[in-house]
Amino acid sequence: MTEIDDENFMRAALKIATEKGSDPSLSPIGCVIVLDGQIIAAERNQVSENRDVTAHAEIMAMRSAGKHFTDGELRDAVLYTTLQPCGMCTMASIWSKVRRIVYGAGRDDVHRMYFEARHVNTLDFIADAYRDDLSIEGGVLREECAALYYGPGDHPPESEQGNI
Ligand SMILES: [Zn+2]
Repeated sequence: MTEIDDENFMRAALKIATEKGSDPSLSPIGCVIVLDGQIIAAERNQVSENRDVTAHAEIMAMRSAGKHFTDGELRDAVLYTTLQPCGMCTMASIWSKVRRIVYGAGRDDVHRMYFEARHVNTLDFIADAYRDDLSIEGGVLREECAALYYGPGDHPPESEQGNI
């Protein structure tokens, strides 16, 4: 997987993220899962429309991608997401057996409301996992991805700040 491939797949994640608009109030987070150079799942955050707090883009994409595997485990797949995954999606990624997670905007690029814990970081989850065949890297199309979200210094409406 080259840098250009990573950017192309991140563009696909951006496209699905913004399918219904790009305003931060819509939480436009997108995820694509890639196997052998092909996108096998592309989903966006659907928490509000499904009234399902677990309907994050990554979870939706993992559910969809599972159909391509006999046991539902996403071995050798790569997960691209426009925003560093939350704790739930990071843990699900570990269980899913994907081999690589690539994200766009990182924790420091966005408002703290996007993460559930003050100090626990996705990167630590991966570093502490028993699995040592899973890697995570961020910053692919960082600016384009970060532009979709409230920034660290923004003051989003209180009703949108789910975790705070
Ligand atoms: Zn998540």
